[in-house]
Amino acid sequence: MSTVLFWFRSDLRLHDQPALQAALHSGATHLLPVVCQPPVDEPTPWGFARVGPHRQAFVAAALRDLGARMAALGNPLHVCHAAPATALPVLARAVGATTVVCEDIAAPHEQAEVAALRAAGLQVHTVWHSSLLQPADMPWPASDLPAVFTPFRQAVERAHITPSAPLPAPASLLLPPRVPPDVWQAVGAEPAGADQGAAATDNPGGRDPRSSFPYGTPAFNGGETAGLAHLAQYLARKLPHSYKATRNGLTGLDYSSKFSPWLATGALSPRQVYADLKIFERDHGANDGSYWLWFELLWRDYFRLLHLQYGAALYGARGLSALPPARHNAQGFERWCQGRTGEPLVDAAMRELATTGTLSNRLRQVVASYLIHDLHSDWRAGAAWFESQLVDYDVYSNQGNWLYIAGRGTDPRGGRRFNPIKQAQDHDADGIYRRMWGTL
Ligand code: FAD
Repeated sequence: MSTVLFWFRSDLRLHDQPALQAALHSGATHLLPVVCQPPVDEPTPWGFARVGPHRQAFVAAALRDLGARMAALGNPLHVCHAAPATALPVLARAVGATTVVCEDIAAPHEQAEVAALRAAGLQVHTVWHSSLLQPADMPWPASDLPAVFTPFRQAVERAHITPSAPLPAPASLLLPPRVPPDVWQAVGAEPAGADQGAAATDNPGGRDPRSSFPYGTPAFNGGETAGLAHLAQYLARKLPHSYKATRNGLTGLDYSSKFSPWLATGALSPRQVYADLKIFERDHGANDGSYWLWFELLWRDYFRLLHLQYGAALYGARGLSALPPARHNAQGFERWCQGRTGEPLVDAAMRELATTGTLSNRLRQVVASYLIHDLHSDWRAGAAWFESQLVDYDVYSNQGNWLYIAGRGTDPRGGRRFNPIKQAQDHDADGIYRRMWGTL
């Protein structure tokens, strides 16, 4: 008997799961699948938890869904309430495994997790699978990614680079090895779907009637089941056709696709989204709306590729720029987080974010710009607050967008400042949004 450990990270799904397929075809006879959820009560250097209650609740639901799917295939998933470097070597020793297979994530914290496992003597086989397009299919090496998004997109389109077809979910899994109960206990493990996160799931944020992503309600639950159902209903209602016209909306369930929380947790594969979108276009016709979904998914890929190129350099105070590091306006930052800056559109948005864990793309741009260019605060504090609050937090998209607005990424045109008064006139002329959040 030989066992391989499979460590789920930001890829909480069974469909289109190349890393899991690699584990299943590794030659091992047994598979030990786990997730690591270290306790979240330790604050970041900015003074708040890295994972706030909204994402805790959404991820807990995703784990319950994945747990149920795996149990149905005869190999239950366990959630270890410990860091991977603590839990995985103990489990590996207990079952005589030497190899861990997992998703490759090109961000510093996530790379340090893998390095710690290697330092503990485990072989870690990482598989890159979170982007729509494979980095190896690009017409340039990772180090030569175009510095600006538009030439990147044009080169991809000119070269007709398209995603590979999504893999089906496995019909069966390898058998689970026997793990003694005291070992499970030592790594703080419980079966996924038992009851972990139940308290967090009760968080009322998602059920606020103003929420534009009411997580915790059946249609917006975390996990692959709800994610695939959401994709199917979005296409069945032909919403791609109106996407470009509505995508700058501020309120409601349908102004944009709302794919991001499922994409960010990996419950939905971008290649599955693309494949189903192509079927939609074949059956119902393509237009600028359906094209624009591909366009936005390319932005998502662009920030992933930027991480492959620059890695940890994206996380320093200067970003990639030669600008002096921003001074931190701690009081301004505090008022910004609480929605008390005195700027009605910004305050409304920050209240929506803290109350519901979500925010439209338009308002993410407005509030990020306000923190950086009006309050002159450290952009990394804003990125950390988004990480803590957003249900759809994605390390690449968050860091990439903050760098872009701060003018500290690769774009030579400098930062982006959004005038909040003009933005309110353009996107909330009747004041409905600001009144909804009590700032007008
Ligand atoms: P749609 O408008 O329907 O777009 C479809 C998909 O395209 C999205 O689900 C997303 O995967 C991708 N996409 C769209 N816009 C962008 C973009 N600007 N950058 C990268 N991908 C994009 N997105 C996250 O998923 N996680 C984050 O942590 C995150 N942080 C952000 C921080 C800032 C400061 C800004 C300005 C944007 C951030 N975004 C982030 C990007 C974008 O705001 C969200 O992806 C989008 O609002 C999600 O809603 P949707 O799924 O309805 O998007």
